[in-house]
Parts: sequence; structure tokens; C-alpha cells
Amino acid sequence: MTPQEKLADEAGRIAALQRYDILDTPAEGAFDKITALVRTLIGVPISAVSLIDTDRQWFKSLNGLDATETERSVAFCDHSIRQSEPLIITDAQSDLRFRDNPFVTGDPGIRSYAGVPLRTPDGYNIGSLCAVDTRTRDFGPEQVAILAGLAPIVVEQMELRLLAERDGLSGALTRRAFVAEVDKHIALYVRHKRPAALILLDIDHFKRVNDSYGHGAGDRVLEAVSALCRSRSRPSDSFGRLGGEEFALLLPETTESEAMAVANRLRDTIERFEISYEPPLHVTASFGVAAIGHGRLNSQAWLAAADTALYAAKRGGRNAVVLTPQDTLRAA
Ligand code: GH3
Ligand code: MG
Ligand code: MG
Repeated sequence: MTPQEKLADEAGRIAALQRYDILDTPAEGAFDKITALVRTLIGVPISAVSLIDTDRQWFKSLNGLDATETERSVAFCDHSIRQSEPLIITDAQSDLRFRDNPFVTGDPGIRSYAGVPLRTPDGYNIGSLCAVDTRTRDFGPEQVAILAGLAPIVVEQMELRLLAERDGLSGALTRRAFVAEVDKHIALYVRHKRPAALILLDIDHFKRVNDSYGHGAGDRVLEAVSALCRSRSRPSDSFGRLGGEEFALLLPETTESEAMAVANRLRDTIERFEISYEPPLHVTASFGVAAIGHGRLNSQAWLAAADTALYAAKRGGRNAVVLTPQDTLRAA
């Protein structure tokens, strides 16, 4: 494929993005440091590491604005990834492509933009590193060079995190490493019929903790809940962080009813626990349980079964444990 054909290969681009397993993952210092550096060095109020998914732009880091994603159709960065050269917009109000954009006409009032594509080693533009200003400006060559120099470091960081197995904040396995464990136990079940169960848990109303006491308090809660889960589980269990405040336990040699008992104990422990902070904090969590079995012989299907139960626990009022029962008719 020529570089030009690669730019048009959307399916290949999405596959290249998915390989990093990075969408919807928690913030990571390395990316936030790079966007902070862009703000300082270029003197812009906003900088982002933006990844372009099928229908949305998702920010691995967004510095200077509070958002996690936008629709793809309004993403400046979606234009950056369509070319190999940096995209420079000196005045969005006089650019046909952007003058009606809601981020130009409304909040935050974007006027200028410089974005450099994040190009994977195999040549796909999966997103961009960008500098955004609310006033018109010409980005000078040395400023574009800063972005062009940092963009490959962002991609290298994404490659490095693929190699890392543990989440820095909670010490839990990363989603990718956890899913690898799940796959391992599916293979054990298929070959030797060894039972295993999955417990998903998601902290209730976690956003309120951040909103009321700040992000630092939220991080303390994540650390405390992780520590509780790990101290209450067996050495053979795996504990992973699947997303922001969503965790999972994989329990080998454990039946459905045993897993329910574990989840109920954990629910109770978290509810009672006082997290040391000023003021002390209390949280609850909702749980979804699913044992391995028929129709759950790939990690996606098994996790989805547990997720259905978790969703039911949330809908039912939270601070609860719900099971998605095994398909006993077929399993028999
Ligand atoms: P629900 O009971 O339905 O689960 O509500 P919730 O508020 O827990 O869930 P929601 O998905 O609305 O909010 C999750 C929040 O978690 C939003 C996000 O900003 C925050 N978050 C994600 N990762 C981190 C992190 O690493 N640290 C902190 N402090 N907050 C995080
Ligand atoms: Mg939650
Ligand atoms: Mg959640």
C-alpha cells in the first residue's frame, strides 16, 4: 500500500488504533505531561492527544478543557489525520470547514489550531497531537516543529504501555493483561473443564467524589478500593482495572455460587470501609458476576455476561451484586 492508500484505508486505521487497547482507559501521566508541555512551549490554553475512533474523537489527554470525547463530525483532529502534513488553521472563523463548528461558534470558542498526526509504525494516522487557541494566530515553524517532535514520542509511549502489565495508580493489571488472563482460563476450561468466575465491579457515583472533593480524592478512593479487593482475594486470583473506576476479579477454580459469596463479602467490605482523607470518604460499588460456561468461550462474551449483571445492579439501585446465570440447559 502506498502512503496515500494508507490514508484512505479506514478499516486498517481502526485496526491499528484498536491494537493499542487505549480507548476509554484512565488518564496516564506520560500523556498529560506531553500536553502540558505543548501548552507551555507553544503558549496555547488547550492541548490534546486526540484519538479518532469510528464515530467519535476520544481524548487520551486533554489539557485546558474538561471533556472526554466529542462526535467525530466536529473534531478538528479528524481533519489532521487525513493528511501527512501538520494541519494549521490560523482563523477558524474564516475557514469554510470550521466556521460553523460548534466549538468555534460556542464554547470554548476555538479560533486557531495546529495538529500533527499520530502515525503508527505501520503508517496509520490514529489521531493527533494538537495545540488549540481561542484567538487567531500564526503558528511559526519552530512551534510546528515542537508538535512534530512530540507526536512520535506520544506514539512511542503508546507502544510502551502495550508492554506494561500494571496500572500505575491502582497496581491492578491493565485491561489488556487482564483479558490475557481471562483467555488463559477459557483455554483451561475448554481443555480440562476447570471452573472459573468473573466479578466486575464499578464504584457507585464516583463522579460525585471527584466533583465534590477533587480528583486527588477520587484517586485515593481508587487506590483504597483496589487495595481492599486485592487484600480480600487469593494469590491465584487476578485483579484488573478495566476502565476509570471499573475493576474485575478473575477467580480460578470457583463456582457461580462461591463467586457470588465473594462478591457479596466485597460489597459489604467496601461499604463499611472508611477511606482516610480530609474528610474521610465512604463509597459503595455495584457488582456483576458470571461464571464461565457455554456461550462464554471468548473473553468478550464472558466479560459481556458479567457486564450485563453489573448493569442490572446499577439499574436496580447500586450497592448490589447481580449474577448472570450460566446457560444450564445447554451446559448440561
Ligand atoms: P455510576 O454509579 O453509574 O457508575 O456513576 P459514576 O459517577 O461512578 O460513573 P461515571 O461513568 O459517570 O463517572 C466515572 C468518573 O470516573 C468520570 C471520570 O472522570 C472519573 N475517572 C476515571 N478515571 C479516573 C482516575 O483515574 N482518577 C479519578 N480521580 N477519576 C477518574
Ligand atoms: Mg461508576
Ligand atoms: Mg464506570
